[in-house]
Amino acid sequence: MPSNRRELALKSTSGFRDRPLGHHIAGCPVDGSGSLFPVSDPATGETLGEVRDATEAELNAAVAAAEEGFARWSRTPGDERKAVLHKIADLIVARADEIAAVECLDAGQAWRFMSKAALRGAENFRFFADRAPGANDGQSLPTAGHMNLTTRYPIGPVAVITPWNTPFMLSTWKIAPALAAGCSVVHKPAEWSPYSARLLVEIATEAGLPAGVFNSINGLGETTGRRLTEHPGIKAVAFVGESKTGSAIMRQGSETLKRVHFELGGKNPVIVFEDADLDRALDAVVFMIYSLNGQRCTSSSRVLVQRSIHDRFIEKLVERVRKLKVGDPFDPATEVGPLIHQRHLDKVSSYAAIATAGGATIAAGGAPVDGPGFFFEPTLYTGADMSMRIAQEEIFGPVLTAIAFDDEEDAIAKANAVDYGLAGYVWTRDLGRALRVSNRLEAGMIWVNSENVRHLPTPFGGVKASGIGRDGGDWSFDFYMETKNIALATGDHKIMRLGAAE
Ligand code: NAD
Repeated sequence: MPSNRRELALKSTSGFRDRPLGHHIAGCPVDGSGSLFPVSDPATGETLGEVRDATEAELNAAVAAAEEGFARWSRTPGDERKAVLHKIADLIVARADEIAAVECLDAGQAWRFMSKAALRGAENFRFFADRAPGANDGQSLPTAGHMNLTTRYPIGPVAVITPWNTPFMLSTWKIAPALAAGCSVVHKPAEWSPYSARLLVEIATEAGLPAGVFNSINGLGETTGRRLTEHPGIKAVAFVGESKTGSAIMRQGSETLKRVHFELGGKNPVIVFEDADLDRALDAVVFMIYSLNGQRCTSSSRVLVQRSIHDRFIEKLVERVRKLKVGDPFDPATEVGPLIHQRHLDKVSSYAAIATAGGATIAAGGAPVDGPGFFFEPTLYTGADMSMRIAQEEIFGPVLTAIAFDDEEDAIAKANAVDYGLAGYVWTRDLGRALRVSNRLEAGMIWVNSENVRHLPTPFGGVKASGIGRDGGDWSFDFYMETKNIALATGDHKIMRLGAAE
């Protein structure tokens, strides 16, 4: 079965691996003429194919196509947009195995997670499809002399720039609400895992999305990404990626006053109090850092354990971490696959020396796995404190840092003592404590006695260096749409008369 899935992924991508992967502009594939960069297979280290960095002219053509696409799509009735988006969801479901296999191939993510992530992509489209007809809905705010009516309209062509970790699902999260709102899109996938984005283009075309509404360009961040975010034709940038890239995009978009939505890095704490259900907490701690190879923005990369249960909990944690099954991403038994790229493996590996130099202990893992591919052992650093780099920096791999705390105050102080603020996880049976801690954690999302379970109508996003803005439900439409107020006079209010004196 695993090799069948690998063959499926190789076959699915063969059309754009036999020759360099280009772009999709105004409904047509464009080979492109820009410089080439390689895509590696994270499980073997071999080159899968080459991709074109868009030239300035190709990028301009994509934005021009999006402007034309916008003129049409923004006036397409909501019911029609709904029907097309549902069709996209249907086709994602029909090709879910293929999409998941392609994610395993070029992102190195394990099948057990990717098979669900592809279906999640379909749900993102369905959720926003159903909201497309009501996207313009507003409020009526009456006064004595006026009826104020608010309405919303799509902001214009938008750029969607996504990272490499779970590329398909993350892109649908942005592209579905943008299209439901009536915006057109220029998508730039990440250079290390660009293939599944092309499947979404094929699906959208087959679903009947008009030409120019959804364009996809490939390229490097510092060339294509920069040009896209500087382009005056792009009205908003939905970006998922590193915090420092978010800062760069803010600078790049400042000249043209771009609206930005940033989902950035994290160093999320999971706080385990002594009164918690420790078995469930252990399951969640392991799941939230080692699933998706730890390349997950909401991963709980710091476990804060109350001192009274610390040694007992860590002992069980070490046992579990050592038993994690590292291997071929296509194998359904695999729990941890390879990291995305040699450069990322080097970065993640470098933290072992940083950990020990800082005074922490390597309780499990800490080294690359021998053999081909970019595999890194599931790793646990213990005995850390908040001054250490392993407690502060986003490592973005299967690496967990354990820190002891004394009481509620200490837990909150340690949880908040980082630049990031995306998610927080709290484990306690005391409801009052759960609420007190949740209220004071500096994060956009808190889960109590749970791993990250996403409900699409709820707001998703971070504070501090973890982001600006929220996704989900109506929050997405707030970003992709402008709000307008129309004040209709009843006719009986007095208008101040100037220049009317005798
Ligand atoms: P990255 O910031 O290096 O790249 C993300 C995208 O930005 C890529 O497509 C890249 O080409 C592009 N880019 C790079 N420089 C650019 C520039 N100057 N202008 C415009 N675009 C540019 O991030 P990554 O390494 O691909 O992804 C990992 C990061 O993503 C981690 O920090 C992770 O936490 C974050 N992430 C956040 C969320 C979230 O929801 N908060 C979700 C997933 C990943």
